Amino acid sequence: MATEMTEEATTHFGFNNIPVAEKVVRVRHVFDSVSKRYDLMNDLMSLGIHRLWKRYAVHKMRLQPNQRLLDVASGTGDLARLMMRRMDDRGQVVLCDINGSMLQQGRHKMTNIGMVAGMTWVQGNAESLPFPDHCFHAVTIGFGIRNVTHMEQAITEMVRVLRPGGQFLCLEFSQLAIPWLQPLYDVYSFKVLPEIGQWVARDRAAYQYLVESIRRFPNQQQFSTLLSKNGLGQVRYDNLSAGIAAIHTGYKV
Ligand code: SAM
Repeated sequence: MATEMTEEATTHFGFNNIPVAEKVVRVRHVFDSVSKRYDLMNDLMSLGIHRLWKRYAVHKMRLQPNQRLLDVASGTGDLARLMMRRMDDRGQVVLCDINGSMLQQGRHKMTNIGMVAGMTWVQGNAESLPFPDHCFHAVTIGFGIRNVTHMEQAITEMVRVLRPGGQFLCLEFSQLAIPWLQPLYDVYSFKVLPEIGQWVARDRAAYQYLVESIRRFPNQQQFSTLLSKNGLGQVRYDNLSAGIAAIHTGYKV
């Protein structure tokens, strides 16, 4: 019991250990700080490649018009927008994020491109989703699961709201599958990215956190095991750009 309490008392935030209750506050601060420059930073950091990853992820999904989909940790709504297009603009996409400023940026962006019908914006925590059981045909989470405090709780919640047989998809940074690229990737991650963060978003620490949180995240196999243990079957993953990111998919059993 004492051990359990000790383990629960702290969690990681990048490379630091912090009290569990503090993580959600710190993560919120990160995204409050970068929300206005979030899309621009994604393009700069990845040279636009994140767009291809997202497109490929949605392309892999079995979507049909008139489905009801949930994008958790939706941020500014890239995955949601692509999913709606994939349903020929006929369907429902719920975008759920804990951070009001990220949702606001996304809503503004979507309104500007005339994408309003069928989109519902909900502020909520992935760890206690404000939706009934079994109500979505598919649930996605893009670059979000790494940021939640209790990852298994968030997975359980996403599975809970899925219909039986419904598809789960997670797009997330992962571990490089080509070892000789590692030194280069390390220099880029630890030296270049925080600099770009400082210059563009005026927040070096937020991008230092990004890099560190990627290193703390389970590798492809470990994450697959976690998904299988929490109610998903046929779990598979696809490496993207040599494992810099990966797409994990599974179906609610
Ligand atoms: N999905 C978007 C994308 O791919 O561009 C945004 C990803 S952004 C890196 C991570 C998002 O996760 C942020 O918008 C943040 O507010 C959200 N987030 C962090 N913790 C969360 C939680 N516990 N529940 C829901 N959203 C969360």
